[in-house]
Amino acid sequence: MVSFARYARNALSIYKDNNPKYLIFFVTSRCNAKCVFCHYRSQIDDTQRKKHELSLSEIEKIAQNYGKISKLSFSGGEPFLREDLPEIVDAFIRYCDPQIVDIPTNGSIPDRIQSMVKRILPLMEGRILDIQLSIDGTKEVHDRIRGIPGLYQKILQTFELLSLLRNKHSALKIKMNLVYFAGNRDVTESLAREFEASYEFDRFQITYPHGESINDEITKNIDFDVFHELSRAIQKHYKTRNRGDLHSLIFRAVKLIRDDIIRENHILLQDMGAICRAGERILVLDDIGEVYPCEPLWESVGNVRQEDYSIHRVLRGQRMADFKQKHLGPGKCTCSWGCVALEKIIYSPSLYPRLLANCFYLLFAGGKGLRAS
Ligand code: SF4
Ligand code: SF4
Repeated sequence: MVSFARYARNALSIYKDNNPKYLIFFVTSRCNAKCVFCHYRSQIDDTQRKKHELSLSEIEKIAQNYGKISKLSFSGGEPFLREDLPEIVDAFIRYCDPQIVDIPTNGSIPDRIQSMVKRILPLMEGRILDIQLSIDGTKEVHDRIRGIPGLYQKILQTFELLSLLRNKHSALKIKMNLVYFAGNRDVTESLAREFEASYEFDRFQITYPHGESINDEITKNIDFDVFHELSRAIQKHYKTRNRGDLHSLIFRAVKLIRDDIIRENHILLQDMGAICRAGERILVLDDIGEVYPCEPLWESVGNVRQEDYSIHRVLRGQRMADFKQKHLGPGKCTCSWGCVALEKIIYSPSLYPRLLANCFYLLFAGGKGLRAS
């Protein structure tokens, strides 16, 4: 059970020390999908790379040296292909005390995902385990763009299996994410309505693609304003499993502001660098130990293996100083990466009244269903 007090305590702890409180860890470059918009494609295709994946004992050392984490996201590759994922979660919980553990999955291996989540849940007492499933179009479109025949059905099967676990564990939240792109923009709204009518998700969101795509045809020609309007409508009106659930409520309220920030900075002012604290508040670690301040630029500032598994030593290095000099600051950079906008909200007390107002709106007026909107 997650209490408001614990949530608040965790929120305040972000100011306590200097390590980035949001860590995105690409635990593996193994993946069984071939998504056309994958920005990790070259790493996935690199067969030699798998031999150099960080071992569990190396990951333990990284966690031990890291300090407190507020939110930990596992990414990849397909994170559930990593056999020791529960042990990795355990290491971070023991040493870094994250409040939220977030695992996106392509949902292709339902039984394996269910059995791993079963092993992770006992570790999550008083915390949140967010499992993010992805569906990016109708059955035919989704299977084609993700490169796995039958994947759409597998995801729904994964959802059903996880729902059984969710009935017994309040720590488990299941969210559905849809990457909005040229190939699905015309069916996004109807898909959202379909899912709302048939499945109880804790959150449903659409996201704007970021980073390079191997297939630019898919990601170009997206009208951000149309995306923005639809994303807002979904956040405001989509009927989630429990609209009073504190964690889901806060994240839905945050998403409303996050999309506004991306729009204001990326589309209107072309200046995300002015608010960006990549490498200071948020950090990315990959499967072979390279450290990146952000996903969109994917510029390594060092490798933890060469720095005695200390992220802090990497961040004190010259390459990080060069990165800051080059990209952080007014007029230096722009992107549509939602994670950096999320950090901006968390560290901006001036936005808290707006956040609170959104929470009240979602609690009392919103969330009544897309049909009611
Ligand atoms: S599931 Fe994720 S990592 Fe795998 S190919 Fe698709 S986008 Fe890339
Ligand atoms: S691309 Fe630029 S603005 Fe975006 S997260 Fe990276 S450094 Fe920050």
